[in-house]
Amino acid sequence: MKNILPSPLQFKKNKLTFDGVLLESIAQKLPTPFYLYSQKTLDSYFKSFTQSAKAHKINNPLVCYAVKANSNIEVLKRLKDLGSGADVVSVGELKKAIKAGIPPEKIVFSGVAKTKDEILFALKCGKSGIYSFNVESIEELILINDLAKSIKKKARVAFRLNPQVHAKTHKHISTGNKTHKFGLLKADIQEAVAVTEFWTHTNLVGLSVHIGSQLTDMKATVSAIKELANLALDINLPIEFLDVGGGLGIDYTHKERSKLASIDYYMQTVSMALEQFYFSKSSILIKPRIVFEPGRILVGKMGVLVSRVVRTKTSDNCHFTIIDAGMNDLIRPALYEAHHEVLPATKSAKLITTDIVGPICETADCFGTKRKLPSLTSGDLVVIDNAGAYGRTMASNYNERSLAAEIFFR
Ligand SMILES: *Cc1c(COP(=O)(O)O)cnc(C)c1O
Repeated sequence: MKNILPSPLQFKKNKLTFDGVLLESIAQKLPTPFYLYSQKTLDSYFKSFTQSAKAHKINNPLVCYAVKANSNIEVLKRLKDLGSGADVVSVGELKKAIKAGIPPEKIVFSGVAKTKDEILFALKCGKSGIYSFNVESIEELILINDLAKSIKKKARVAFRLNPQVHAKTHKHISTGNKTHKFGLLKADIQEAVAVTEFWTHTNLVGLSVHIGSQLTDMKATVSAIKELANLALDINLPIEFLDVGGGLGIDYTHKERSKLASIDYYMQTVSMALEQFYFSKSSILIKPRIVFEPGRILVGKMGVLVSRVVRTKTSDNCHFTIIDAGMNDLIRPALYEAHHEVLPATKSAKLITTDIVGPICETADCFGTKRKLPSLTSGDLVVIDNAGAYGRTMASNYNERSLAAEIFFR
């Protein structure tokens, strides 16, 4: 159950390879820094996700990939080819998903701040709009109903429940507690279901939950599904789907590797929780299908950030390896104190202790302190591992730097 997730990186004869190809040769003609994505690895994660859902008898699963994790068009097109839908949080993401060929009937729209224009665009997509607006406030529901009425359509909506569970993850990526801005409390949903004027141009098609990101321990996930199930049982209306959200984590560190839930263990947990808390208790004959919104687990391990050493520097007993990638390219260490392995292109038995820092004028622009690396010099390649999720999508132009290129390696 605790498996090591496949990665495109491997050392062969002390040389770092990506999908079996020497990194030095891939990087030869490319300006650094750049993101490098492995189609093979993406395929393997998507397939294990869907095959595992099937193996655990998840009812008619729909995978709506969370576009914010990595919105590269080639990545989206590949996921579309593999059968994925999309979970979007802005009209920009919605347009990009559609551009990649993902059908609107497989797109759910999450987010607390959907605007009038965004809702109108989503209502007009395809023949009957998107699969679902995952509604996060009563005000939003009223607006959707009004806008659907104004263009003589019916909107498909789901409530996002705030299950009031505490996910054990970094405080910036936990979303399922009462103090967080996300979702609606159960009582507010129950009340809204009974207000007939909210439903003249909307249909309640589902219920959803999403409690946070980089979840490793499944306890909070089970509690969230229990809350979702109880809400569905209380409402007791035929709905088309239950959406269990995303959030499954990947191993960034060795410590995480040992306690991380595998895709298979996650699916088994979700399946058992749905059976125990919902399917075995529901008297409604039509079984809702199960929607998933995975982001990081599908794309996190397929991507790396490739950079070169600008120079090294010592001050007193501190040693710095200064690289040409910065926090504007990959903000996770600065924002979440996240750990990313930094690997040299050539392995060496002789290691030094060094801090890997970027060019940005911020002390937080640091990819790792007290790391063991070979002594590197100007022009040497380094790779920041597990950067496929929330890497390039969170990049900025800070310090007037340009956005890193993305290479989809097939
Ligand atoms: C970000 C997000 C996800 C995906 O989270 P991951 O941790 O990348 O799996 C899914 N659903 C919603 C509503 C989100 O905001």
